[in-house]
Amino acid sequence: MTTAPHVTAAAPVPAQSTYQSRVAEYWNIEENPVNLELGKIDDLYHHHYGIGTADDSVLDEPDPTRRHERITAELHRLEQAQAELLAARLGPLSPTDRVFDAGCGRGGGSVVAHSRYGCQADGVTISAKQADFANTQARKRGIEDKVRYHHRNMLDTGLPTGAFAASWNNESTMYVELELLFAEHARLLRRGGRYVVITGCYNDAYGRASREVSLINAHYICDIHPRSAYFRAMARNRLVPVHVEDLTEAALPYWELRSKADGLVTGIEDTFLTAYKNGSFQYLLIAADRV
Ligand code: SAH
Repeated sequence: MTTAPHVTAAAPVPAQSTYQSRVAEYWNIEENPVNLELGKIDDLYHHHYGIGTADDSVLDEPDPTRRHERITAELHRLEQAQAELLAARLGPLSPTDRVFDAGCGRGGGSVVAHSRYGCQADGVTISAKQADFANTQARKRGIEDKVRYHHRNMLDTGLPTGAFAASWNNESTMYVELELLFAEHARLLRRGGRYVVITGCYNDAYGRASREVSLINAHYICDIHPRSAYFRAMARNRLVPVHVEDLTEAALPYWELRSKADGLVTGIEDTFLTAYKNGSFQYLLIAADRV
């Protein structure tokens, strides 16, 4: 009698919904200057927003070329500060630890975590183009043996169970069902591991999703969850919050500056500012322990 070989590895790109294919298409063709020009400064590519006080003097620069360069650098500095804030919550970690970057974009977050802790990182994105781009960057830095990017679905990664000391989502939870996402994080994290999310969420205390939240959903083809959904889905998936931080105020200077950055605006800036200011939308960091 012969037996069929036992195959355990997941397909490189597990079956994805039509919606997920549309999201992949969006990121495969995305080439916004606000993402590419900022990244070029130091080859750290972030597709998330910035936090902290902005140096508004960049707007007073008289020379147009220099003005553009200074605004670009300032927005990048604020995005980098956001990535550092998230990375700081992942630790302590050692070089033998592995971390998982869910919805990794062009890869900046994994490089930040690796630079800080020396740890190994696996990033996953539904966009093949982003995964290729990020792997090329890792090779250029000579860290491709430590930092790897995969074209996969973060809900079904095929990565090994319990192998990760920390994991995160940086502005990528609004593309997926939280129950499925947190089940995958809980599977990948070892007991005592740390999960961190930074996300825009709608404010339950406002009521339902506001007009602005709906416009943001339409702009990015996403589905912003209410704040309550995070805590409910975490509680059901062995993720126990240890730190919650409302970053809404800290996010405003970035959006104010970006709204004045000719050539870098994407058209969604005023909607974000209105949504944050009318209380319908919040920028939240949650750190949780995998128990
Ligand atoms: N975390 C990154 C990128 C955020 S942009 C950063 O901070 O720069 C949102 C990312 O989520 C994109 O890379 C997109 O490809 C990814 N994404 C959306 N749905 C996904 C899914 N189902 N599986 C994996 N990645 C997904």
